[in-house]
Amino acid sequence: MRHIVSALTLAIACSSALAEAPTASKALPLDALTSRISADSLRGHLSFLSSDLLEGRGTPSRGVDLAAEYIAAQFRRAGLEAAGDDGYFQSANWQFAQRKDGDVALTITAGGKTMSLPANGASGNFVDPVSLAATPAVFMSWQAALDDSGAANGKVLVVPAPAISGAAAQLQSKLKSTPALIVMIDRERRHSRGAGGWLIDPAQPVNKSAPPVVLLHAADAAAALEAGGAATVAANVVAPEIKPVKLRNVIGVLRGSDPALKNTYVMLSAHYDHLGIRDGEIFNGANDDGSGTVSVLEIAAAMAAQKERPRRSIVFIALFGEELGLLGSRYYARNPVFPLKDTVANLNLEQVGRTDDSEGAQVNSATMTGYDYSTIGATLQRAGRQTGVRFYKHPVNSDRYFARSDNQALADAGVPAHTLCVAFGFPDYHGKDDTWDKIDYDNMARVNRMVAVALRDIANNRVAPSWTNVPNAAKYLDASRALKAAK
Ligand SMILES: [Zn+2]
Repeated sequence: MRHIVSALTLAIACSSALAEAPTASKALPLDALTSRISADSLRGHLSFLSSDLLEGRGTPSRGVDLAAEYIAAQFRRAGLEAAGDDGYFQSANWQFAQRKDGDVALTITAGGKTMSLPANGASGNFVDPVSLAATPAVFMSWQAALDDSGAANGKVLVVPAPAISGAAAQLQSKLKSTPALIVMIDRERRHSRGAGGWLIDPAQPVNKSAPPVVLLHAADAAAALEAGGAATVAANVVAPEIKPVKLRNVIGVLRGSDPALKNTYVMLSAHYDHLGIRDGEIFNGANDDGSGTVSVLEIAAAMAAQKERPRRSIVFIALFGEELGLLGSRYYARNPVFPLKDTVANLNLEQVGRTDDSEGAQVNSATMTGYDYSTIGATLQRAGRQTGVRFYKHPVNSDRYFARSDNQALADAGVPAHTLCVAFGFPDYHGKDDTWDKIDYDNMARVNRMVAVALRDIANNRVAPSWTNVPNAAKYLDASRALKAAK
């Protein structure tokens, strides 16, 4: 009985604590912490980080390296302790592979016609060279290819590319047949890294036995193969040029004051990379996620300036490579600087600058993925009331986006981790006009104050945040139990 009672009490407590205010309450007077957060300071940081000079902070690029240096300099200015292997930098020593146009050459014979592709008609994100004479090709749907037990053996398997990330690796790992080569039809270049090349994490095992996957972008050749008649494909793929590349998470820590709790960590994160230059256009990425990055800088400076340190330590981290698949947060989760078992919470900031949400203006309000998955929601609710920000649950995106941003890796490890944002969708999302002049800095300052108050509360609270018992949080609750048990 008691058991049921306590579960019920928790559910009621959670639901009443998370009862949403229809409108933002009046903010309380600023205090020593919240008064240190200023719209002008945020504007100053963002106008530099998302300036054309940094060329959209693509990975890898000179622009993203400049951004990393700037962030480290701001952590240094705030007096944070450097927590990387190279000052504030946690270095990932990876490789960058690049092919020139024409390095992937296919000759296709179908319908009695032979066609060679234009220079950038195909690409391939694999290292080993390929030299394949004209070989019979077989066209299959994605599912038919997965179900096939041998019809494609020794042939060229042609499949349409599905709209899922990592499709090539998925197909390679699930195939039962052994084709000589896979040609994935990708007219929209969804899967190609373009002329820009691709990153290789040397720590990740390479499936050497899998057939290479060539991405076919040329529409006429694709149509000829999709026709399904007798066809052959010959391939000549040159090995790419491979260069070492250093990717950096930028990490600073504000050590806690409590003898015991200072060895536990509250993490505030945001990704500092964006899309770089595409088709000659700079994608400045002011809201995505320059806004989150400058918020980390501003909140770090404000908290470090306080006379009193919070009990727990606070880790401020700017992450690399989010746009290429959450690379920096996944790298950190595999190589944590601070033990994950002692990391009590992660709040990741995404798109906190624009209020012109595609679903309607979002002023004085903020939301979070996995809104009711942990007790962090209630803490933000309280902080929102204090700072005049309505903290609400998005009916769809709270669940939909939970595992699609940089909180995911730590959540999977069991750390209560969420992504907070103002607008999930905005007109210039992943467009060339996501510029710093469109940011609502006063609103962003208010949201920053809410986040700072919540961080302080978590860092001073002797009770660490925990996952709730809502069904969608079950796997994270299990992971956190395993994490604690691993002590
Ligand atoms: Zn983003």
